[in-house]
Amino acid sequence: MSQAKAYAARSATSPLAPFTFERRALRDNDVNIDILYCGVCHSDIHVAESDWGPSEYPVVPGHEIIGRVTEIGSRVSKYKVGDLVGVGCMVDSCQTCPSCQQNLEQYCDAGMKGTYGARDMIDGSLNHGGYSDHIIVREEFVLSIPEALDISKAAPLLCAGITTYSPLRHNGVKAGDKVGIIGMGGLGHMGVKFAKALGAEVTIFTRSESKISEAKQQGADHVIVSTDDAQMQAAASSFDYLLDTIPVQHDLNPYLNVLKVDGTHILVGLIEPIEPAVHAANLILKRRVLTGSLIGGIAETQEVLDFCAEHNIECDAEMIKIQDINEAYQRMKKGDVKYRFIIDMKSLKE
Ligand code: NDP
Ligand code: ZN
Repeated sequence: MSQAKAYAARSATSPLAPFTFERRALRDNDVNIDILYCGVCHSDIHVAESDWGPSEYPVVPGHEIIGRVTEIGSRVSKYKVGDLVGVGCMVDSCQTCPSCQQNLEQYCDAGMKGTYGARDMIDGSLNHGGYSDHIIVREEFVLSIPEALDISKAAPLLCAGITTYSPLRHNGVKAGDKVGIIGMGGLGHMGVKFAKALGAEVTIFTRSESKISEAKQQGADHVIVSTDDAQMQAAASSFDYLLDTIPVQHDLNPYLNVLKVDGTHILVGLIEPIEPAVHAANLILKRRVLTGSLIGGIAETQEVLDFCAEHNIECDAEMIKIQDINEAYQRMKKGDVKYRFIIDMKSLKE
């Protein structure tokens, strides 16, 4: 066992505060990672605040982890001490079901184990995430960080990156397609970069008029202010794909209306239940598809890291100290972040 320093939420309403706990002893297929940086995902807020049903506390959030290997188990072959590595949203799965066999561990029949909030498959202890000084993860769920990436900006690729890259690839987005990205936050701004890299014509849908010029700087070809009905109507039946990153319940109908025949609306923001109801006519009359997507498998997460190194894609981030995490959550809820907070984990030692 090793003692870990961390920040945790003790209840749905208490702010995150310093917390000390024991990480498990290293197993023979485990890698021990000294955490350098951890991105702040809106899912961290959802779980810390029990937005998705009651969470098990304490919650140590964080699933966009970059660090350096300090120790390896006797059977570890992929990594050695000193390697720069990453950990994303999952730390285990059954490895044998059809999904796992197809490198889709996120859809594991036994349920993938989240980096935080889930229970360890072997000893049943509660997993704690990356707002901590180190983490112990089985090697199959550890990613290699390409040297070409700026490690101070790479952490968000492990969730925001893979969660937007995977559905664009899976749905076959290609050059010339008209793609709308809904919500320009951590996921959305990465979605713009990937859709552009795949050759699509990209439109940002934002509530925030102030983001119009920034959206263009991010590479978006067009911007639609989603609160302006006239702009939404003018875009009717013109999009092939929508990637919806809004983290709260919202009306999908005006968005479905902008899709062409056979257009696809991909949900990644987990909004339960969908309210107000989707009108069946909005699907049936144009054979539109409403679908969803969960992060991406480990092999595809490695692919996105390599893709970003090759295409010079990086996250736009604001570095913070762990002591600023509660203020960062408040700012994220207001959409006031360009576009991802990354915690410099050195600050835990202060
Ligand atoms: P952010 O907070 O960084 O960004 C969300 C964006 O959505 C905001 O920037 C804002 O964009 C828009 N938005 C926020 N609130 C509202 C609102 N009330 N009405 C309309 N638009 C709003 O969040 P993330 O990008 O980190 O995460 C987005 C969602 O995706 C979260 O729910 C998260 O849990 C989920 N997620 C899902 C994953 C999956 O595998 N499916 C993986 C990771 C995250 P603007 O100001 O431009 O309108
Ligand atoms: Zn996330």
